[in-house]
Amino acid sequence: MMALYKIKKSNIDNKGLVASKDIKKGTKIIAYKGKLISKKESEKNPKFDNSKRIYLFEINKRYDLDGDFNFNTARLINHSCNPNCEVVGKGLKLWIESIKDIKKGEELSYDYGFSFDEDFRDYPCKCNSKNCCGYIVKQASRWRIKKSLRVNR
Ligand SMILES: [Zn+2]
Repeated sequence: MMALYKIKKSNIDNKGLVASKDIKKGTKIIAYKGKLISKKESEKNPKFDNSKRIYLFEINKRYDLDGDFNFNTARLINHSCNPNCEVVGKGLKLWIESIKDIKKGEELSYDYGFSFDEDFRDYPCKCNSKNCCGYIVKQASRWRIKKSLRVNR
């Protein structure tokens, strides 16, 4: 099967993935691949030494999936405040799936799901969508940004 995506220099970040043809909503586009890493190891690893674990997915109480490898092409997908994909699946079987119809050439994105905390300013969002809140924060917590910026002015 021909891949539904190709790597592209992104408008959002350095690189990204774009649809190589029209994709229907609910399509599994690319597997999110990684290696098992125990919580103990990930806690010790300076690579994950911040609260925003971009390439780390929780598998269970003891293990995470570390997706920070070149073979994991899905790691190139950028965050967007108006995403067209989401991560689905369980355990080591994770997929990027479309949550709306996507046109050929459109960039793939999903909500990184970062929780809101004091360091949100360290993660500016450049997704350029109409509803962009300016920072990479999960949708359910974005109202906190406005509130925080108002208080701290
Ligand atoms: Zn944004």
